[in-house]
Amino acid sequence: VRALAVLLALVLTAGCSSAPEPAAPASRSARPSTSPTVAPTRSPAPTPPLAGRVVVLDPGHQLGNGRYPAETNRLVPAGGFRKPCNTTGASTDAGYPEATFTWAVSRRVARGLEALGARVVLTRDRNSARAWGPCVDKRGRAGNSGADLKLSIHADGSYSADAHGFHVITPPARAPWTDDIAAPSRRLALVVRRELQGAGFAYATYIGDDGLDVRSDLGTLNLSDVPTVMVELGNMRSPLDARVMTAASGRTRYADALVAAVRAYLR
Ligand SMILES: [Zn+2]
Repeated sequence: VRALAVLLALVLTAGCSSAPEPAAPASRSARPSTSPTVAPTRSPAPTPPLAGRVVVLDPGHQLGNGRYPAETNRLVPAGGFRKPCNTTGASTDAGYPEATFTWAVSRRVARGLEALGARVVLTRDRNSARAWGPCVDKRGRAGNSGADLKLSIHADGSYSADAHGFHVITPPARAPWTDDIAAPSRRLALVVRRELQGAGFAYATYIGDDGLDVRSDLGTLNLSDVPTVMVELGNMRSPLDARVMTAASGRTRYADALVAAVRAYLR
């Protein structure tokens, strides 16, 4: 009985911080003696599935890059070589820019991940024709202070005939840059591919191998110390893909698939 009383006192103390702490005997005498009640089982609030996780999202390009050629073309470190800070990115035939698409999808992904308890860091804080960058070296290192993974979100701009579909790019095992992250990045790529395909998106018809590609020329991947992939969600020059990308419902489908992938990978 004494053990039960102590336990009760502990439960009461732990479960209700604003209540005064009754001494165990008083609390016992205040209860009906015939039916020893047990404090209502108060299950702790369920821990969100991604609590404590940090995810970096890298929305490709910036809307104003084309207006800042000097800044955008400046060479920066990219993993054993130098490369222009950034590029203008692709667009649909009707002029819907990649920077705007990646920004919209990334924000939806961020909301989805935050709802699951993750902390999300975006590599840029706006999509503006009066802004440029950040450069690929900064994007590359964006996750290196403790993120669990980095997802770089892009769309392609291929003029090849009937080129459409998505592909996921990983870094190769290239010492000393990406040998440490190649394997987990590939695992992440497989999950991203699975979720995009499950959401009804087709593998790229014009590049890669069943929706996967490996590249050593991307500073965004090369400079990362955490698992990372760059996903080209589709080909903006494809009327088929452009129709999906320019619709809010299509962007939500992309984003939901990416949220599911991050959740599955981090589980
Ligand atoms: Zn891009």
